Amino acid sequence: MAIYVNRVLNMKYIKAIGFDMDHTLVRYHSDKFEELTFNESLKKLAYEEEFDYPEDIINFKFNFNDAIRGLVIDKENGNILKVSLYNKIKNAYHGTKSLSYKEQQKMYRGSNVDLAEDRFMSIDTTFAISFSVIFAQMVDYKDKHPEIIQQSYNDIAADIQRAVDIAHRDGSLKGAVVADFEKYIIKDEKIVQSLERFAHYGKKLWLITNSDYKYTKALLDYTINPYLKNHKSWMDLFEITITLASKPRFFTDKMPILKVNPENGLLENHDEKTVPGIYQGGSAIKVQEHMGLKGDEILYIGDHIYGDILKLKKSIGWRTAAVIEELDKEVDAYKETKEVSKIIDDLMDQKVALEKELDDLYAKEHEFGESVSKEEVNQKFNEMEKLDKAIGKQIKIYESHYNPKWGEVMRAGAEPSVFAFQVERYACIYMAKISDFYDYSPRTYYRPKKKKISHEMN
Ligand code: IMP
Ligand code: MG
Repeated sequence: MAIYVNRVLNMKYIKAIGFDMDHTLVRYHSDKFEELTFNESLKKLAYEEEFDYPEDIINFKFNFNDAIRGLVIDKENGNILKVSLYNKIKNAYHGTKSLSYKEQQKMYRGSNVDLAEDRFMSIDTTFAISFSVIFAQMVDYKDKHPEIIQQSYNDIAADIQRAVDIAHRDGSLKGAVVADFEKYIIKDEKIVQSLERFAHYGKKLWLITNSDYKYTKALLDYTINPYLKNHKSWMDLFEITITLASKPRFFTDKMPILKVNPENGLLENHDEKTVPGIYQGGSAIKVQEHMGLKGDEILYIGDHIYGDILKLKKSIGWRTAAVIEELDKEVDAYKETKEVSKIIDDLMDQKVALEKELDDLYAKEHEFGESVSKEEVNQKFNEMEKLDKAIGKQIKIYESHYNPKWGEVMRAGAEPSVFAFQVERYACIYMAKISDFYDYSPRTYYRPKKKKISHEMN
């Protein structure tokens, strides 16, 4: 599929390309991995000393479609929201129960939220889908049995996050992945071809991951090495590999760097200049300085809108690209729904015309004192009711092409979702997967299409 452009990016000028690993260079069967995270985290919450939850939470059911990226968790109220770029709530659930428009209005004193408040947490990465699915069911459980789960919604959110963190750290997830690559990891030969194509054009390739060396090596040995044509191993392909990078701090702070011995993973101090090799920690500022590059000569590609993209853009000014794994499906659904979108637009035009007719009748009676037939007014209201029903029916058809619970990832009703807004604002270009680069020359001058402003659309 295509590469989409938000800001001009001339690849001729890019000298180094940094890649995130998980969900960027390495693609996951996300539904399987999140189900694993869901189960492992629930086990910790149910059985481990440090958590105080009943054992039957282990019976919670995982459904990957229960959450999408870009959702916002209101940790204080136990709610999950979908929000538009204007921070307007478009969809809201308390636990797994849908909140009516009235309930939403009451709870949020209107429809707008300030996402900067501490109680809000965004589902920025696919790794957070399992968090959201557990949180919703835990909220239901607490509401049903407040005497059993006495913790606040806030405490529940913190506990789930801690359990998920432990699962990511203690090997329960990574061990399972390494034991069954085929189940969890997608092999994509074209990604490797795209990387070698970049290398052929003289681009320096860097890998900057929050994963540890052992896991990084296991994943790259599996996904990259078998397809290399001009390099012996991923270790030759990447000029610099940085593991346990602690992004986003890697982009903002000057943290110490250690050298990794690729043979055995052992660490050594490293006080000198960053030279080609494998490291742990360090900072983007130092790497850039030691490599003698300017910020806008480096392109960084990641999947985490906060950890990989937003912080980087705001701190060191590298150029940015976002990998959005949902995009292929979203673009397909967009194409499939073109016809029904047109029907909805036509019905909306009819609704607008009818509203005007009703307003004119109102003006006739109340502004100009003329008599108006009650029958005519009633007939127009009936027509309106029919139109609303027809629009509702078509919207349901439209929505059935996207996530059944939340709709599109990139859109919240008529507006872009807050997630799409962040992609648009912080990523210079975006795509579904790294292999999409293969069909573009590494010298491509990416240019955005001219965007229409409201007054230009009529
Ligand atoms: P990257 O995308 O290559 O930077 O790697 C992401 C790393 O962060 C992986 O090792 C994940 O296991 C880890 N990770 C992702 N989400 C969480 C989380 O919620 N808690 C702790 N670690 C996480
Ligand atoms: Mg990642």
